[in-house]
Amino acid sequence: MVDTCLCMGAGITMAQGMQRVEPHKRYFSFVGDSTFFASGITGIVNAVYNEANITLCILDNSTTAMTGHQPHPGTGRTMMGQVVEKVDITKVLEGIGVRRIAAVNALDLEACVDAVLRLSGLEGVKAIIFKSPCAAIIKPSGKYRINRDKCVDCRSCINEIGCPA
Ligand code: SF4
Repeated sequence: MVDTCLCMGAGITMAQGMQRVEPHKRYFSFVGDSTFFASGITGIVNAVYNEANITLCILDNSTTAMTGHQPHPGTGRTMMGQVVEKVDITKVLEGIGVRRIAAVNALDLEACVDAVLRLSGLEGVKAIIFKSPCAAIIKPSGKYRINRDKCVDCRSCINEIGCPA
C-alpha cells in the first residue's frame, strides 16, 4: 500500500493501469483537494479519454494540510492573502467529462458509504467529493471537558483518537 501512497496524484493513473490488468475488480484512487489542482486533473483527463473504470475519491478539506496550509485554487484566496473566486472542483470534473459525481459531508459516515456503494458499481470514471474543512483551520465553537466522575481512565481518547486535550 505504501508504494501506491507515495506519489501525490499518481493514484489516479495507477488505478487506470491496474484496472486494465484486472478489469473485474473495483478501483479507487484518493487525492486531496490541493493535489487535485496540482497534479490530479491531468490523470483524470486521461482516465476519461481512455474510458477507464475507476472511482475517484477527492478528499476536500479546503486547504493544503500536509505541507503547511498554503492556499490553492479551491480555497478562494491567493498566496498574498487576496480573496478571489474559488475554482469549483465539481465544475472542473464536469468540464473534463466526468458524468457521475457525488459530493458528501465527510463526517456523515452513512452518506459516505451510500455514495461509495452507489457510484463505484457504475461504469466509467466516477468521482466522490468528501467535503469537510480541516479541523486545524475551523476552530470548534465550544470547549469540551472530561467528566471526571465518568472517566474510567481507559486512555482511548489519547491512544486511539489522539485527542490532545
Ligand atoms: S476515553 Fe477513556 S480515558 Fe478518555 S475520557 Fe473517556 S473514559 Fe476517560
